[in-house]
Amino acid sequence: MARKIKSASQIYFNKDHEMVRRAVKEFVDKEINPNMDEWEDQGIAPLHDLFKKMGDLGFLGIRYDPKYGGQGLDYWYDLVFLEELGHVQGMGIPMAVAVQTHMATPAIAEFGSEYLKETYLTPAIAGDMVSSIAVTEPGAGSDVAALQTTAKKDGDAYVINGSKTYITNGTQADFLTLLARTSDDAGYHSFSLFVVPTNLPGFKVSRKLDKLGVRCSDTAELFFDNLRIPAENLIGREGEGFIYQMKQFQHERFSSMPGAYIGCLDIIHMTVEHLKSRIVFGKPLITRQVLRHRLADWLTEIECLRQLTYHIVRMKMEGLDVTREVSMGKLVAAQLMRKVSDGCLQMYGGLGYMNEMLISRYYRDARLFSIGGGADEIMREIIARVEGF
Ligand SMILES: Cc1cc2nc3c(=O)[nH]c(=O)nc-3n(C[C@H](O)[C@H](O)[C@H](O)COP(=O)(O)OP(=O)(O)OC[C@H]3O[C@@H](n4cnc5c(N)ncnc54)[C@H](O)[C@@H]3O)c2cc1C
Repeated sequence: MARKIKSASQIYFNKDHEMVRRAVKEFVDKEINPNMDEWEDQGIAPLHDLFKKMGDLGFLGIRYDPKYGGQGLDYWYDLVFLEELGHVQGMGIPMAVAVQTHMATPAIAEFGSEYLKETYLTPAIAGDMVSSIAVTEPGAGSDVAALQTTAKKDGDAYVINGSKTYITNGTQADFLTLLARTSDDAGYHSFSLFVVPTNLPGFKVSRKLDKLGVRCSDTAELFFDNLRIPAENLIGREGEGFIYQMKQFQHERFSSMPGAYIGCLDIIHMTVEHLKSRIVFGKPLITRQVLRHRLADWLTEIECLRQLTYHIVRMKMEGLDVTREVSMGKLVAAQLMRKVSDGCLQMYGGLGYMNEMLISRYYRDARLFSIGGGADEIMREIIARVEGF
């Protein structure tokens, strides 16, 4: 007999999912949103404190193996977690958290040795260590294969030299998941992925960078001067790092999608409240058809993005390659977030331009979506390549 469904969300989510949803939402409402203004002003958030609280609640290892402290749940729970993080009033914190859960640790979990899982994945899941993903360099962003940081084998160690830039959580990280060149040969097998502890001699945070948006997220330039790490900190096999990182990027890019449609919905709901109360030419702005239709168009696109995201979850559950769909989703998420935050700011008029208004933060933060984690142009390139042209 068919299940009785009362709302669309029940098609996808059961009581257990909703329990996780409520727990994450409560955390966002109590522990994150009330602090956002202060963290934005300070240009940093206390990640050790925040991650410890999240780790204690089991939020940092939803999908990871219980052997390492994870919850061992599936992609639908991961989706619920990411959707609720989307209610954070600004993108700096969801990004910092996603670095820990979807950017710096998936490769350790998938390809790392038992030693690396016990030493780094377990404390990352517990919130005892803060992590960063260190790929981008001053001369290598979109073109990852242009990176110049080297890791040279020397006995039972690798010696790291070079620099990384725009590294999220970079001033607070206890370890970096770092992509470095292990061979001068051309081709994708010249790179390896390492876990690099930041408490070793030769590591330096050269600069904390000042940014347009996501201001509460610390972004750093890092420098490595003959930094020796144990050879056992190599993730998986030498020469496979590029491939591991391309796989890890799929988790990163997927993690931006739920936050985008939930963020867009929050922005629209907030804007509708403003339009109802703002009287212009003798009528509430919400009565103007041009504005109502614009909002309706965006809601339609948001629903399309949400359904693409759910489709990807179904594909992930079947173990399918999601590169094509994730690249499309990341592209749409970025475009939509920018369009909705810009368009809604416009509906606020001058008020929207004031820093004291939340919409101005969303507008600033949204700009990053089209750049970070693979820019829009790179997503289009991947889609074209997968399609064979
Ligand atoms: C706030 C912030 C946080 C970040 N966090 C991290 C992090 O934690 N870890 C990390 O490793 N990196 C991080 N990044 C780096 C980010 O991933 C890169 O900025 C991004 O990949 C783009 O690289 P780039 O800045 O070098 O731009 P470039 O590669 O120089 O590209 C410049 C422009 O040219 C376009 N372009 C490039 N190639 C083509 C092409 N073939 N055709 C058409 N257009 C093209 C790009 O899309 C882009 O618009 C962060 C960046 C920012 C701004």
